[in-house]
Amino acid sequence: MVGLNGDTAITASESAPVMDYQRYFAEAISGLKTEGRYRVFADLERRAGDFPRAKRHGPDGIELVTVWCSNDYLGMGQHPKVLAAMHEVLDDCGAGAGGTRNISGTNHYHVLLERELADLHGTEAALLFTSGYVSNMAALSTLAAKLPACVVLSDEMNHASMIEGIRHSRAEKQIFRHNDPEDLDRRLAGLDPARAKLVAFESVYSMDGDIAPIAELCDVAERHGAMTYLDEVHAVGLYGPRGGGISERDGVAHRLTVIEGTLAKAYGVLGGYIAASAALIDFVRSFAAGFIFTTALPPAIAAGALASVRHLKASNAERERHQERAETCKRRLSEAGLPVMASESHIVPVMVGDPVLCRRVTDILLARYGIYVQPINYPTVPRGTERLRLTPSPLHGDAEMDHLVSALSEIWAELELSRAA
Ligand SMILES: *Cc1c(COP(=O)(O)O)cnc(C)c1O
Repeated sequence: MVGLNGDTAITASESAPVMDYQRYFAEAISGLKTEGRYRVFADLERRAGDFPRAKRHGPDGIELVTVWCSNDYLGMGQHPKVLAAMHEVLDDCGAGAGGTRNISGTNHYHVLLERELADLHGTEAALLFTSGYVSNMAALSTLAAKLPACVVLSDEMNHASMIEGIRHSRAEKQIFRHNDPEDLDRRLAGLDPARAKLVAFESVYSMDGDIAPIAELCDVAERHGAMTYLDEVHAVGLYGPRGGGISERDGVAHRLTVIEGTLAKAYGVLGGYIAASAALIDFVRSFAAGFIFTTALPPAIAAGALASVRHLKASNAERERHQERAETCKRRLSEAGLPVMASESHIVPVMVGDPVLCRRVTDILLARYGIYVQPINYPTVPRGTERLRLTPSPLHGDAEMDHLVSALSEIWAELELSRAA
């Protein structure tokens, strides 16, 4: 037997060489560094009541930064109603759920939240998961694996969590061209009408900020008897009169088989869910390993999310200000000659087109201007389209926007970056 610690090197040279695991890890990482896409996390301490500012723990101590890339799109993560609900339920129910949903972990706040989410999307039922990632992974893998001979049609820009869920199902998969109902139609037409079919796509695509033609995709799916699965993670809370997402805004929520969302982005807390018919929800609840074999969300988290969903159902003020801020940000950047990409949503992508330069821009923003934006590199976006992804919130004021635009203008001139979006 050969050990793994190097003290058996002589033995190892006589038999088959053994794997040097640590070296393998280190080399993989140095490859990422060479390509300029090694991920460095900003060590932040968010300050409730002071968003979008946060403390940053850096090599030179603690400094205050302005966060321009948060997915807490509306600042609901610090909303007084959300915090009050969480404090109250933490004291009432304690820290954890105490079990899986099946074995003692279903708390009344989970039940209330599921009802609220079903109401939000106008469906019969909803089901909570520990995150949006888990909801996509568990629901898609279960549906595609269990439906007999299911074929999944997946938009080419779908999120990693959907791709993983589909892959895990081992079902046959076809990738259709991004937001292209005609390509979807051609592909569905080529399939046996009797087979189960599931069309999976998103409403707001979070890196380009474009929006799916949901009605047209539903037309095609309905014509071919296919189910539809819509990820509304970047739209719930933000679009539609009650925050039901693009499907609510466009009046097409009732046409989708499944709507999936997160409680961690616009709602500012944590958790994921699907909303659908009672039968489909009962099916996923009963067969999805990613739902069954994991501890339920803490009751205080469910209560915070519930308060957030309820607030944004009734209040449009955050949504209106959010859209105005995003529009203003896009306009100001483009007036300054910066390469803002065409985006139909609240997402403001600014093209750099190179991973090393992208990192360079964000390093300077942080060090010189106290502006924190994470560079977006491959594999999150295709190579050659590395970018900044700005997410102005209702709490980003005019002064902060001035500071951002002038900082980017100076950096673009200094590094002689391309101004082509
Ligand atoms: C962030 C994201 C998810 C995952 O949601 P979490 O609640 O953060 O796990 C799913 N789909 C899309 C499109 C996302 O961007």
